[in-house]
Amino acid sequence: MTAYQKRKSQRTEHYEKHVKGWKQRPCAACNGSGYYDHNNSPRCAACDGTGKERYKPERGCIDAI
Ligand SMILES: [Zn+2]
Repeated sequence: MTAYQKRKSQRTEHYEKHVKGWKQRPCAACNGSGYYDHNNSPRCAACDGTGKERYKPERGCIDAI
């Protein structure tokens, strides 16, 4: 296996495990801002300051979101 093929398979594996089927929504803890409040507050720990959290929709519940 070439180095290229190895990297490609690793990317595919990462996608299958961590990307495929996952959706993002605004973080519930900070309401999508990435911070707990507006005044020099620390970054939100729930989403690490990204303002987004990932979730995997349960089958059959996707339309309910
Ligand atoms: Zn957050």
